[in-house]
Amino acid sequence: MDRKLLLSLAKKYDTPLYVYDADKIISQYERMTKAFSGVKNLKINYAVKALSNINVLKVFKQLDSGIDTVSVQEVQLGLKAGFAPEDIIFTPNGVSLEEIEQAKDLGVHINIDNISILEQFGQKYPETPVCIRINPHVMAGGNSKISVGHIDSKFGISVHQLPLILRVVENTGMRINGIHMHTGSDIYDVDAFLRATEILFTAAESFQDLESIDFGSGFKVPYKENDISTDIEELGKKLSKRFNEFCKSYGRELTIMFEPGKFLVSEAGKLLVHVNVVKQTTSTVFAGVDSGLNHLIRPMFYDSYHQIENISNPKGKERFYTVVGYICETDTLGANRRITEITEGDILSFSNAGAYCFSMASNYNSRYRPAEVLVKDGKDYLIRERETIQDLLKGQNLDLNF
Ligand SMILES: *Cc1c(COP(=O)(O)O)cnc(C)c1O
Repeated sequence: MDRKLLLSLAKKYDTPLYVYDADKIISQYERMTKAFSGVKNLKINYAVKALSNINVLKVFKQLDSGIDTVSVQEVQLGLKAGFAPEDIIFTPNGVSLEEIEQAKDLGVHINIDNISILEQFGQKYPETPVCIRINPHVMAGGNSKISVGHIDSKFGISVHQLPLILRVVENTGMRINGIHMHTGSDIYDVDAFLRATEILFTAAESFQDLESIDFGSGFKVPYKENDISTDIEELGKKLSKRFNEFCKSYGRELTIMFEPGKFLVSEAGKLLVHVNVVKQTTSTVFAGVDSGLNHLIRPMFYDSYHQIENISNPKGKERFYTVVGYICETDTLGANRRITEITEGDILSFSNAGAYCFSMASNYNSRYRPAEVLVKDGKDYLIRERETIQDLLKGQNLDLNF
């Protein structure tokens, strides 16, 4: 999406505005499919929590993708978008047995991530096959908040507990049809990823009825020019070969599965904001915009980097700015950034705004969440309207007298 298009969308739909490029989503999906074309059965399940607008889900539906969900509500959104239950996997963490039963009743694939639930589920529904989430304890990931494979992590069943898993399976008579791992986010080291897959392959040998092995996700995307990212082509080449060897020794053609969120949608999104004020203090030049941590929490939440461009003045001379939001709370979106000269009224564009941006947005400070636009085949579609005061009042009891 070029600068002129973004500017025209900011004008047409106003700011703050999230804009998603369907072509970029599609090309990332195809890149991944191509990287693993050496495997007979590949299934990519888009991680809905990254960006859950139903129209984005429909783009994935058109691609024949499946989806990965972490709550029953995401399952319901997926069904609403037209996904068949068999194209939905449910990989929650720490949810109740009741929620897992709801997912079972909706007919989706269930992935269990602790032994307590495995045992309860297996006793109640020994005829329903499930997948189990293994924690291989391979350290990887961008930082400790987003790496989930370490020994203190709450995710998955430790690979060291394999004997207990097998005992539960034997005692309940349940069937395990898949094993799964998801070791964190922002993993760029292909060899670290492959080490974790080896642990999963070894664990897989203990189960007779597998139909799939799910290697999760966590692929890193570039955040700025020349940034490191996961070499998906190299991973595809190496892991495909190893997977095919495994299938041969296992004696069955299994399906290789992935559940990327960030890789598929991060780079497709831009957040467009309007500069309300340029404020010079004794130490800093601030650019204050009509957005903040209510719309883009990642910089404050886990120090994530979003490149900021002044699309109103692309050729201006570069100066240093700290870009902040309008929330009454420190909400630095980018500190000491070199940006072409900013004037009040300019439109700034934040990159990598597809994954974990709108889906983490809130109404803090009683501000409206941004509108969302999808650009597909050269046309723009408003896929979520800007909120109104009615949205803030919704569900609140306005008629109480006390
Ligand atoms: C969040 C999540 C993903 C997606 O991770 P990305 O880093 O966005 O690719 C995949 N699987 C599970 C189980 C998740 O919770």
